[in-house]
Amino acid sequence: MSITVVGGGLAAASAVEELRAQGYDGDVTLFGAEAHPPYHRPPLSKAVLLGEKEPESAIVHDAGWYAEQRVDLRLGEEVLELDLAGGALATSTGTHAFDRLLLATGAEPRRLPAADSAARVAYLRTLDDSRALRAALVEGGRVVIVGAGWIGLEVAAAAVSAGCTVTVVESASLPLLRVVGARVAQIFADLHRAHGVDLRFDAQIDQVTATAYSGVRLTLGDGSVLEGDLLVVGVGVEPRVGLAERAGLTVDNGVLTDPTLRTSDPRVWAAGDVANHQHPVLGRRIRVEHWDTAIEQGKAAARNLLGAGEEYQRLPYFFTDQYDLGMEYVGSVGPDGFDEVVLRGDPGETFAAFWMRGGRILAGMHVNDWDAIDPIRALVGETVDTGKLGDEAVDLTELAGTR
Ligand code: FAD
Repeated sequence: MSITVVGGGLAAASAVEELRAQGYDGDVTLFGAEAHPPYHRPPLSKAVLLGEKEPESAIVHDAGWYAEQRVDLRLGEEVLELDLAGGALATSTGTHAFDRLLLATGAEPRRLPAADSAARVAYLRTLDDSRALRAALVEGGRVVIVGAGWIGLEVAAAAVSAGCTVTVVESASLPLLRVVGARVAQIFADLHRAHGVDLRFDAQIDQVTATAYSGVRLTLGDGSVLEGDLLVVGVGVEPRVGLAERAGLTVDNGVLTDPTLRTSDPRVWAAGDVANHQHPVLGRRIRVEHWDTAIEQGKAAARNLLGAGEEYQRLPYFFTDQYDLGMEYVGSVGPDGFDEVVLRGDPGETFAAFWMRGGRILAGMHVNDWDAIDPIRALVGETVDTGKLGDEAVDLTELAGTR
């Protein structure tokens, strides 16, 4: 049996690592469209962008490791077509036969069409994007960021640290509002304002044009005008599904998989940002765009490619670093939303937050309290006394089943 992995990101790297860790010694081929071996993306908007680490430090394994592991690493080789019935794929250089396949094609930044004709516009997805953006963040530069999501806020923090003047434009009334709700969103807004970021909420972008001195000019819906030396767009990502769609796999906001990450074709699995997974614990479909999911789904898919048939049950987990704020979040609120947010501790410093529905914890996070993530993870799904949950004197490990 031969195994082929399409996509040169973290999910792909984790999968081939796990194939060998499981003792599989058959043929493994990994096709990656980028020129670099698979790498971690989180540092690209944090330590690498801050200039604290070199871009190469984000690489998972160098090319020598793949050779040692007898993984045929085909970098810079995009898979163009998949013939599922024939068990073959086509790249720009030829065709390749496979028995089982993992699709880990990831996601790509959503474009801001209004900015398409402006020259000084940056998106942040790849190592090369991060390298270019780092060079462009110069002391005294004026940076306008569209989107107050995780990427936009992390870029804002890096730009402030580089000595830039930063404006963030967001269509919602607070940053991260849809994910964390107004109470916690306000904490992030306060954090950035305290570092001098000009936050423009409820803002619509009417027009983006180039200025005479090669900068950018944004005209907002209320008629106000913003000028900058650089525009960074961070308005989310779209799963890269073109290949899967053309191959006839079932696609709907990602490649649909069953609980074992198997797609509509029994010889094909999907993992990472591209996979829309039927989550057995959450009881619904979810497509997660997080680092931890890329690693763990990559490994689980690898075991299932080898016939394990195991359900992927892990809860989504996410982290961010902005200025001195480090945060970890676990769980998922879901389409029905939350009816209460319980805060625990001092929101200015070290605290935890829990998103609840009917007394049940849907998700929890901590800020700067690194020992808290395991007890928080254990509480997700539990029904608890919210008074006790918000009381720092009550140990988190004693809360399960208190309601
Ligand atoms: P990707 O990383 O998108 O990799 C897919 C790869 O497949 C790409 O290299 C692509 O070129 C290649 N490819 C696509 N199509 C083909 C094809 N047809 N043939 C060959 N190759 C193909 N998550 C967190 O949890 N915490 C964070 O702090 C965090 N920070 C982030 C910061 C940045 C700047 C970015 C961009 C992401 C961040 N993430 C973070 C998200 C996390 O990095 C992603 O969830 C993760 O990279 C997904 O991995 P993946 O392998 O599924 O997909």
